Amino acid sequence: MKIAILPGDGIGTEIVAEAVKVMNVLDLKFEMETALVGGAAYDAHGHPLPDATLSLAKQADAVLFGAVGDWKYDTLDRPLRPEQAILGLRKNLGLFANLRPAICYQQLVDASSLKPELIAGLDILIIRELTGDIYFGQPRGRRTSPDGNFPGAQEAFDTMRYTRPEIERIAHVAFQAARKRSKRVTSVDKANVLETFQFWKDVVTEVGLQYPDVELDHMYVDNAAMQLVKAPKRFDVMVTGNMFGDILSDEASMLTGSIGMLPSASLNASSQGLYEPSHGSAPDIAGKGVANPLATILSVSMMLRYSLNQPQAAERIESAVKAVLASGLRTPDIYSQGTTKVGTREMGDAVVAALTQSITKKTTTV
Ligand code: NAD
Repeated sequence: MKIAILPGDGIGTEIVAEAVKVMNVLDLKFEMETALVGGAAYDAHGHPLPDATLSLAKQADAVLFGAVGDWKYDTLDRPLRPEQAILGLRKNLGLFANLRPAICYQQLVDASSLKPELIAGLDILIIRELTGDIYFGQPRGRRTSPDGNFPGAQEAFDTMRYTRPEIERIAHVAFQAARKRSKRVTSVDKANVLETFQFWKDVVTEVGLQYPDVELDHMYVDNAAMQLVKAPKRFDVMVTGNMFGDILSDEASMLTGSIGMLPSASLNASSQGLYEPSHGSAPDIAGKGVANPLATILSVSMMLRYSLNQPQAAERIESAVKAVLASGLRTPDIYSQGTTKVGTREMGDAVVAALTQSITKKTTTV
């Protein structure tokens, strides 16, 4: 299993180091190769996604990505900014499906801003289409308004569009993911107002006929935003377009308390994937050894499940993380009174210890 390791900038290097430690104690063989990406790559090679990094990512079965970005690069021309590396990887690897689980660990129920009874046991998966929608639709630009409320005024415009194959492939990802869970898909749209999303709804409904064992319902995006904070446990798998998914997945991430706990996966048609924490490079805490590495460690677990077909190893990592949380260890972002504050490295070491224990136990039992 070939894995490209791209730590990136800021806390990226610290949290990826912990995830690699975890991979090294699994009883699996990985061929890992590390490369520069983002600001670190710009500093060394003048580009955030050098050819060597891209070709390593393309040849790998999966990419483990830390985070990129720092305020010091904000004055660079847009194509040279660290964040462009993510867009370049998405485009070149054909990553069209972004999977973001929002899981509330029992031990962290109090870290959420919602009442414990609303989020205890929460386990939802948001699937966002990544390549289409108003973010990429052409034409777009600025011009003199030809009509509308203020003809002749300066205006800006974007184009929302989706093709049938784009909707079909993301719908298949959602139905197949639901089959591995509690077999419910909610498709989120704005079909009451937007032609693009009436089409989205029609196509998702058609694809749904191929999955009679999965229950499908449709919800308008405004209602979905409300339901996520009112009754989030009513959802299992939520599938939606690029823009609605961008907003709803961030909303969902906050249900669980800290962004430092949230992994993500971006997949292409052949299940090759890029796995990364949902957060950024956190320049405010970089180098201090306090970043929470669990989102990155849980991204390894997603990698094992979605790209490497190793669901048991994925479960072992998830159990180890739960065991560590149950033991009371907390990085500062999830700390509460009565628990023990630890740094990035201690948290990684604790997961490694819990995993080693479970692997030893498994070997002894066998
Ligand atoms: P951020 O996610 O980096 O940080 C937001 C807040 O969350 C900060 O207070 C930070 O300290 C905290 N935080 C984030 N991850 C944490 C962790 N693992 N443990 C503890 N606390 C954590 O977002 P930002 O500050 O808006 O952006 C910083 C930089 O990251 C920017 O340059 C931005 O462009 C970039 N960014 C990159 C990605 C990516 O690489 N995928 C995603 C988002 C932002």
